[in-house]
Order: sequence, then structure tokens, then C-alpha cells
Amino acid sequence: KQTNGETASSTSLDIAVVGAGIVGVMTALGLLHAGHTVTVYERANDYFEVGAAMAFTGVARECMQRLDPSVLEALHRVGEVNRHPMNRYWDGFNPATKDVAQSEQSLLFQQSARELDYMGCLRSIFLQEMAKALPDGTVKFGKSLESYSEEAAGVELRFADGSIAQADAVVACDGIHSKARQLLLGEDNPASRPSFTHKVAYRALIPIADAVNALGEDKANNQCAHLGPDAHALSFPASYWGLLGAAGLFHEVANWTLSNIFIFLHDPKPWPDPHKMTLEVEKSEMVPALSQWAPGMRELVERMPEKVFKWAIFDMAENPANTFAHGRVALVGDAAHASSPFHGAGACMGVEDALVLVSVLETALSDTSGLSKAQAVTAAFQAYSSVRLERSQWLVSSSRDMGEIYQWRYSATGSDPMKIKAEIETRSRKIWDYDVDQMLAEAKQDCEKRLKL
Ligand code: FAD
Repeated sequence: KQTNGETASSTSLDIAVVGAGIVGVMTALGLLHAGHTVTVYERANDYFEVGAAMAFTGVARECMQRLDPSVLEALHRVGEVNRHPMNRYWDGFNPATKDVAQSEQSLLFQQSARELDYMGCLRSIFLQEMAKALPDGTVKFGKSLESYSEEAAGVELRFADGSIAQADAVVACDGIHSKARQLLLGEDNPASRPSFTHKVAYRALIPIADAVNALGEDKANNQCAHLGPDAHALSFPASYWGLLGAAGLFHEVANWTLSNIFIFLHDPKPWPDPHKMTLEVEKSEMVPALSQWAPGMRELVERMPEKVFKWAIFDMAENPANTFAHGRVALVGDAAHASSPFHGAGACMGVEDALVLVSVLETALSDTSGLSKAQAVTAAFQAYSSVRLERSQWLVSSSRDMGEIYQWRYSATGSDPMKIKAEIETRSRKIWDYDVDQMLAEAKQDCEKRLKL
């Protein structure tokens, strides 16, 4: 053990968080709550999030509460639960009639929404709501991380504008195209870059009256998944909507007058540019893939604006990272394990990461055996990585399977609703029925073992 220099227990840490996305901001709040000094370095000139919806599991909300109650309070201020007691999965392909009574018979299966315990929100509003709890000056905008090096005194971060910063530790939350991941794993490591999942998403908002015409009152006014061959869709009424305009991101209260439509297609072709993952396209390009679908679904597409946003879904399933940490630098959230959205839990994994990270740092800093700060942080970050690797990477891989299951492309389930339901439930239980206390106990134990090495 190196006992010269500042010992771990002598002070709290000065931590640099890279990225002020959803996971970066909540991680920063958790670290501040634990007594650390935190500076967040964000590449963009302001908070940046899309005005799309996302949801958090009950487990993620429990982690938010423990991380810093202000995170959960922010979600409660802007979030909402599904208004229908069940989450319903419909056959989007059959029947070949638009008769609403018949189309109501196309229910494949349903699950209790209360049991699933998701709380949804508009991601841009949630980010801004959380950010209000950060002390002024915590976030430095316009700071794009280019490189870092570990020095005896700490980690030196270098940014694209030529500026330099120092920190005891770096927590990189810089998202799916993480620069920190490339630096930590090496540019040539295949895990440094995400891959195309061969799924694309089209997203649009339409007036709720149009959704009612296409789907009927019940389906249009509640969250629904519509399954079918090589495609699936989500539709749900919007209480808010957000837009990125010339003046920045703004929100409007929609009061359930709009319907959010996401259409996911299987796309066997390669994606042209991995750095440009969203495009504005003509909606006509998705029509051929849905030409045989049930009339209500086709009408939904007809009612979408001519120009829609298309998202390429990338993830790290093909090339998972073999570690989330090296030395005094840790990857958290999508930087560590970017996932496709089919479990609706990519960011939930980031919340769990943040809680483990804060807790292992607490364990390491309360160690009294005279370790240096660098040694303590290294041990904590290795414990974090070892506890989080398996679960978060399982999520990434299972989420890919879920995309195939929804699109009737998964051989074990095909288009059989009971098999699909059973498969979804088994996988989802792994996400929802999770023991946060046990996760933290394992992390503490792992960290203590490493501190004694
Ligand atoms: P990001 O949100 O990508 O934030 C990264 C931040 O880092 C950005 O602000 C960026 O500007 C900044 N940055 C990047 N590079 C640098 C740099 N070099 N220097 C400084 N700053 C930098 N998850 C759920 O849990 N529930 C859902 O319902 C859900 N739905 C989804 C739906 C879709 C369509 C998609 C695509 C994903 C969904 N997810 C969902 C996943 C979720 O969106 C991500 O897991 C989450 O946004 C990751 O947050 P993050 O903060 O790690 O990364």
C-alpha cells in the first residue's frame, strides 16, 4: 500500500462528471448529496435532450430516492403513470378490418401496469427539472472532452476549447458515442463504438382525434404496444410535448390532446452514418413495410405529418466492454452499456450504476488503512465495474431480443401470443424484481475486498 500523499479518509473527493445528460445530472446530484465537490463538463452549450417520452421502473425510482431524494422529487413533479390499469399488447397486423369492435378483439395479452410500475415523463422536462437542484455553476457548458491522463495529483482532463481541468476522479456519462469509453478501452477496441441493431424508429405526434379515428377511443387514449411481422409500434397520449426550435428546447402542455406514435421497423441494410443517428425523412418510406398491416395501423401512419423523425437504434450488444473502469475513471450510463429501447430500461441501468458508484466511493473513503486517494478510488471503481457489468450487459442483449420478439422474428416465440407474453414476463421480472439492498451489499463487500489487496 502506498501511504504517502493524501490518504483516502482525509477528505472527500473533487469529482469531474463528463456529460450533463439524464444520467450525468443524476449522478452529479448523488455525488453532491454524498458530500463530494462536483463539476459537470458538458459538450453542448445548454442542456440538451429530445422532447420524447421515457419511463423509469420502480427499482430505478428506489435508486433515485437513495441517490438523492431531489431526483425522485423531480420525476414526481413531471412524471405520470399509465392511466389504464393494464399494459396492453395488440395485434397490429390483424384483423384486416377497421371495425373498432373487432379490432378490440385483437388484444394479444396484457400485464398489470401497476405491477410493472413504470413512471413515464418527457425526457427534456425531466432533465431540466433535475438540473434545478444543481448549485449554480456546477455545470460548465461548451466543454467537449478530448483526452485525459492520470497524474499523481489527480486526473487531468483536456477539452476541445483548449482548457484543462483537474479532478480526483472522473465519472464519464458521455453517452452512446462516449469519448471517454474510447480513451479508456482504446480507439481500436471494438467495444469503443456501438453497432447498428438493424432497427429504426419513426416518431411523430398526431392530434388525439386522429388517433381515435384510427384506433378507437380506448386504444388511442391509453398506452398500447402493437406487434406484428418485422415491425411494431407504441402509441400513447401525451400530456406534454417538446420541440427543439431556434430558441432552444421548449415545451407545451398537451393535456392529452396529442398522441405519441413510435413505429419501429426491422432494417436489414447498414446504417449510412453512425454519427448521424437521426434524420428527417418522408413518412412514405415506412409505408411499404406496413402495407399489409391492419387498417387502423395504416391509418395511423397516414395521419402522421409528411416529414417525420427517423432514429437509428444503436447499442453495445455486439461488442460489450470488458470493464467499466480503469484507474480513477469510470464509465456510467450509456457510456458503459448503451442499449436499444425495447426493454425501456437503458437509463434505469444508469440510475442503478450511479447509486452503486456513490456507495462504493463511500466505502472506499471510509477505509482507514492508509490507502492513497488514488488507490481508494481505483478500488471503488473496480468494485463498481464488477458489480454492474453482468446485469447492465444482460439488459443490452435482452433488449435486442425484445425487439425481435415484438416483431415476431424471435424463433422461440414467433407470433404465438402466449409464448411472447411468457418470454416478456420472464425477462422483465429480472429488471423489476431486483434487490437494491443486495446489489449495494455486494458492491460494499467487493470494494472492501479490493481495499485489502
Ligand atoms: P446521454 O443522454 O446520451 O447524455 C450524454 C451527454 O454527454 C450529452 O449531454 C452529451 O452532449 C454529452 N457529451 C457527449 N460527448 C461529450 C464529450 N466528449 N464531452 C462532454 N460532454 C459530452 N431508457 C429508459 O430507462 N426508459 C425508457 O423508456 C427509454 N426509452 C428510450 C427510447 C428510445 C427511442 C431510446 C433511443 C432510448 C431509450 N432509453 C430509455 C434509453 C435512454 O435514453 C438512455 O439510456 C439515456 O438517455 C442515457 O443517458 P446518458 O446520460 O447516459 O447519455
